[in-house]
Amino acid sequence: MNKTINVTRSSMPTFEEYCEEIRELWDSRWLTNSGVKHRELEADLRAYLGVPHAVLYTNGHLALEHVLSALNLPKGGEVITTPFTFVSTTHAIARMGLVPVFCDVEETYYTLNPQKIEACITDKTCAIMPVHVYGNLCDVDAIAAIAARHNLPVIYDAAHAFGVLKDGVSVANFGTAAMFSFHATKVYNTIEGGALCFAQEGLEEKLNILKNFGQQGEDCPLVGANAKMNEFQAAMGICNLRHLPDEIAKRRRAALRYRQHLSGVNGITLCPEQEGVTPNYAYFPVVFDGYKYTRDEVFARLAAEHIVARKYFYPLTSKFTCYRDAADAHPTPVAAHVAQNVLTLPLFADLTEADVDRICKIILG
Ligand SMILES: *Cc1c(COP(=O)(O)O)cnc(C)c1O
Repeated sequence: MNKTINVTRSSMPTFEEYCEEIRELWDSRWLTNSGVKHRELEADLRAYLGVPHAVLYTNGHLALEHVLSALNLPKGGEVITTPFTFVSTTHAIARMGLVPVFCDVEETYYTLNPQKIEACITDKTCAIMPVHVYGNLCDVDAIAAIAARHNLPVIYDAAHAFGVLKDGVSVANFGTAAMFSFHATKVYNTIEGGALCFAQEGLEEKLNILKNFGQQGEDCPLVGANAKMNEFQAAMGICNLRHLPDEIAKRRRAALRYRQHLSGVNGITLCPEQEGVTPNYAYFPVVFDGYKYTRDEVFARLAAEHIVARKYFYPLTSKFTCYRDAADAHPTPVAAHVAQNVLTLPLFADLTEADVDRICKIILG
C-alpha cells in the first residue's frame, strides 16, 4: 500500500538544534513574558522582514483581534473583507464588535478585488482587512489608494504570506499593519504563534500592554487579554528562521513539478506567478472547472489513494451558520465559484518529486 500523503507537514529543525536553543531556559527558569528568546526573535523578524516594529503573539488569530482593538475602531463599525479565507479573519472582526462586510475577490489570484471595494464603503466603514490568500499578493497599491482616499486603516491578514516579497520588499511593509500566522501548518512556524508588523509609532507599546492583560505598572489602562508568545515557541521560531530559505526552495521544487504536470490541461486552472513577486509556495491551489472530473471527484480519487487534499477555502466564511443570516448586500460570485471548484494539493518541503508525480497521475488518470 502506498504511504499516506497529508496536505501539509510541519517544518522542524533537528532535535539537537532545538534542544541547544532551549538549553538556557533551564538555567534562567524564565519561560514566558517577553524573555530572552522572545526578544531575540522579534529582533530577528524586524531584520528579516525589514520592518520597524514586530510584536509576537501566541497565535495569529489573537494578533488580528488585538490590532483591531488597538486601532480604537468604533463599535458596530464595518470592516470590508473577503469571504474567501480561513474563518479566523472573519471571526476576528466579529469578535471585536465589528461587522464584516464581504467584498468579492478578483478572478486570477482570489484576493480582494479593489474595483469592488468602494461600492462596499458606507459611513460606518472603519477599516479594510484584505487577505494575501495562498500567499498571493493583494493589489496593495490600489488598496492603499482607496484607503488613503477614504482615510481608512488597512490590516492585512498575511497569515499565508511569510517570506513573500514585492520588488524585494516583504509583504510585512504594506498596510497599517500586517499579521503573520506561525501556526504549525504555515510555511514558517513557531509551533503556534503569530506576529504583527507595522511602522506606526506608539502602536507597539499599546499592543504590548493589551497582550499582557492590559497591565502597565500597577495600573490597567486597557481591557487586555493574554496573547503572549512563550519562550519555547520563540526558540522554535529562531531555529526555523535559519532554515526558511532552504524550506522555501524545497517547496518551490515541488510546486514547479506540479506546474509541469498540470499547466495547460483543459479545465484545470493554476494561479499564474505574479510579476515582481517572490513567492513562498505556501499552497498549491488548483481550480477544476470544465475538467473531466469535478473538484469533489478529484478529492475523492486522491482520498482513495490515501492522499489528503483540502477544499481550502470551502465554504466561504459568509456561508457559515454564524454569518449566513447576517445582512450580506454584496454578492460575491467570483469567491463562490472558486470555493466551489478549488482544491489545494499537498505541498511541504519534504514532498518529493516522485510524490508529486503520483498525485498528478491520479488527477490526470
Ligand atoms: C492560519 C490563519 C489564521 C490564524 O492563524 P493562527 O496562527 O492559526 O491563529 C488567520 N488567517 C488565515 C488566512 C489563516 O490561514
